[in-house]
Amino acid sequence: MENTVLVLDFDGVVAKLNVDWPKVYSRVSEVAGYRVTDLITFWKNTYGTSLYDKANKIIEEYEMEAIEKSEIYDDVIEALELFKGRKYLASMQSQKVLEKFLEEYGIRGYFKEVLGRDRFGSKRRQLIYILEKEKGNKVYFIDDLQRNVDSCIDLGIECIIIRRYEGESLLQKVREIVAGHSIKG
Ligand SMILES: [Mg+2]
Repeated sequence: MENTVLVLDFDGVVAKLNVDWPKVYSRVSEVAGYRVTDLITFWKNTYGTSLYDKANKIIEEYEMEAIEKSEIYDDVIEALELFKGRKYLASMQSQKVLEKFLEEYGIRGYFKEVLGRDRFGSKRRQLIYILEKEKGNKVYFIDDLQRNVDSCIDLGIECIIIRRYEGESLLQKVREIVAGHSIKG
């Protein structure tokens, strides 16, 4: 299990972030000067520009507000305990917001590294970074967005979708990973 790696998305996997999305989209559209309707594409396309940094700061404010009201899913700590390999958090939320949440719930120590959107414009870029560091190791990635899972399938990662809204549990997903891994040896 030491050579296995688990990468978790944040929103929809570790916690549910109740961000005021209509407001965020309208503010980002304002600074962009055009109507932004899809943040994932926006981050990808503006990564490395001053617009990216500007939008990042604006959204961070809303995320900070949301984080106060957000709660961790109740199976997260047990799942983190169960998985004995290295763990990463890869999220398109801001680094500051992620660190704050993890500290508040006392779970920062479980993660080898926390990857926020500040240094990475996309989930794919985050996973490529992790693969670089974990060469030769088996990587499992859990996300609640089919789009993120699809965009990483060709990287040689085991990409797993979690649908919390359908009652799926992270603990169950991790149990399956651990069981599958011990069968395969
Ligand atoms: Mg998510």
